[in-house]
Amino acid sequence: FFDTALRPMITAAAASERIKETSQRLGVTKRVVERFVPGETQDDALTAIRESLDRGLSVTIDHLGEDTTDESQATATVSAYLTLLQQMSHIAQPDPGALEVSLKLTALGQTLPRHGRKIAEENAHIICAAARSAGVLVTVDAEDHRTVDERLDIVRSLRREFDDLGTVLQAYLRRTEDDCRDAAASGARIRLCKGAYAEPATVAFTDRTQVDEAYLRCLRILMKGNGYPMVASHDPMMIGAAQELAIECDRPSGSWEHQMLYGIRTDEQLRLAAGGSHVRVYIPYGTEWYGYFVRRLAEKPANLTFFLRALASR
Ligand code: FAD
Repeated sequence: FFDTALRPMITAAAASERIKETSQRLGVTKRVVERFVPGETQDDALTAIRESLDRGLSVTIDHLGEDTTDESQATATVSAYLTLLQQMSHIAQPDPGALEVSLKLTALGQTLPRHGRKIAEENAHIICAAARSAGVLVTVDAEDHRTVDERLDIVRSLRREFDDLGTVLQAYLRRTEDDCRDAAASGARIRLCKGAYAEPATVAFTDRTQVDEAYLRCLRILMKGNGYPMVASHDPMMIGAAQELAIECDRPSGSWEHQMLYGIRTDEQLRLAAGGSHVRVYIPYGTEWYGYFVRRLAEKPANLTFFLRALASR
């Protein structure tokens, strides 16, 4: 019931302005949100970065925001990334590539009614150039399926200048095996995740087993390819499969990595890192935490229970 009825409903709530405003006004979410988001300010993000590096984890930082509806907001997002990158450039990296930022093209203007694609690409270009000067990597997040073609197109175009620019492929989309084949041949840095948006069955597998099977097929393609696979999953089955495939494909440990979200299976992140695996933690920060937070609720029934309890205790 959770997967077939509740999950799509919760994920759809991410798009509801009314639910968003109510939960932000109530302030109920703060305590629950803190589990997944270290804070609203850049200082909070910087503290989380330092703590993660000290624990042997690499990081990718997301300045929260998505579905920007006016151009000035997209410009403000770019400014936030530029000051963040400036701060990150002062952090000593234990290994090159330990610092990364993640960005969403819809926060940079992709869905603006006029010239959205052009604005998003120009904004992403500004961030990529600043990241390169700061010695920080960049990965472009995956959003809902309607944005995929344009995102992959923009990333391909930017990779001509920034060849270490990464992006994300979502195993639940029926098209993704083909995208993995293209990516594996292009040598790109690719984060493979299951996918977090409510998608119709016409474009995505909606059954959990089918998504898992698709993930394993995609993982094999990426591991066999000549790119840099970023295995974004907390699922023990996917984590184990990645380690086995890396051995089978003769991949040295620096040629791929595990990725997990801030606040989720932290013990496992540390265990893998202590065992010599490269592990990166995705750290989101900022005031626009609502969409991100709702997707985390939709991933696990226990999260929803926790949230509802917090609501009830007010
Ligand atoms: P699941 O089968 O969902 O979970 C396996 C186990 O992990 C669960 O049993 C539980 O123990 C734990 N777990 C998983 N999720 C939660 C949670 N929310 N709270 C508590 N425990 C949990 N999706 C996109 O669509 N676009 C992106 O750009 C994107 N970037 C991502 C980046 C990273 C680094 C990661 C880790 C995920 C990203 N995702 C993204 C989300 C992803 O698509 C999945 O929705 C999410 O990771 C849950 O899938 P799973 O592989 O962890 O497996």
